Amino acid sequence: MDKIIEVRGLSKSYGTVQAVKNIDFYVETGKLFAFLGPNGAGKTTTINIICTLLDQDKGDVVLDGCALGRDNQKIRDRIGIVFQESVLDPLLTVKENLLTRGSIYGLSAKVVEANAAKAMKVTMIEDLALRRYGTLSGGQRRRTDIARALIHRPKILFLDEPTTGLDPQTRKSVWNMIEELRREEGMTIFLTTHYMEEAEKADYVIVIDDGEIAARGTPAELKDKYSTDALEIKPIDRSKALNTLKDAGIACSEQADLILVTLSSTVDALPILALLEGNIASFQVLNGTMDDAFIGITGKEIRA
Ligand code: ATP
Repeated sequence: MDKIIEVRGLSKSYGTVQAVKNIDFYVETGKLFAFLGPNGAGKTTTINIICTLLDQDKGDVVLDGCALGRDNQKIRDRIGIVFQESVLDPLLTVKENLLTRGSIYGLSAKVVEANAAKAMKVTMIEDLALRRYGTLSGGQRRRTDIARALIHRPKILFLDEPTTGLDPQTRKSVWNMIEELRREEGMTIFLTTHYMEEAEKADYVIVIDDGEIAARGTPAELKDKYSTDALEIKPIDRSKALNTLKDAGIACSEQADLILVTLSSTVDALPILALLEGNIASFQVLNGTMDDAFIGITGKEIRA
């Protein structure tokens, strides 16, 4: 296992607000890493510190062998950042935006031109090269934002809520592009998102809450630990079904014409279904979701 980012004992306060409290974590090379938390949890603060945009109070960060504080320029050369808000010039064309950005990395004009062509190809915006950024749609802008972050061929791409505000179809196409970048370029992706179905695709998830790490694991591990499955039954005779469950000592709740039984695991549904045999109009086993896990971990919805 190769760690491309290592964060140790990181802390940051703004006056009396302790935004990040002594956190430790690492990110493995080439993986999709999701950094989740409710509003105000400390995500942006942590990312800004790792990306050299903000000084920490305490703690160490090592990124691809470069120490934060000592090798900040080398860190900047290795990372691309897509911010929540666009930072491109609306009056310049897509290509001009990319070339202008590329020129600040001290690369030759020829290399910048080649990198811009590659970035536009990967993000599928070649046909937009001569369009002014300000005239693009939301999805086209997001692709261009990502192309801009790729102009110096970074090893790690930081994506701060990359699909917020996009319609579902555009979200899907931007997301497919992100997955392709990782698969084909072996890029490490550091993602924050409020969409749990996106976090579900991550190789590893850290949940931060109130400046502290509240949980860590793969999406499957987190769902397993922090969410529960449920058996949803539509009975033929509702009061009879409720009595059967009560007599068997099985706790349940009611929702409209449905009866819900919380399960420790999906197979626990079998004896309950056997018990109610002949009195079931329909049923389904509902698996715990990342949304449930997030609420289980933080006690909060992902969006405040
Ligand atoms: P969101 O999901 O809303 O973007 P976040 O997880 O990125 O939130 P941060 O922006 O890192 O959270 O904020 C963490 C805490 O630090 C919050 O209580 C916030 O109000 C506070 N904070 C952040 N930036 C500043 C600042 N410049 N001055 C004072 N307090 C700040």
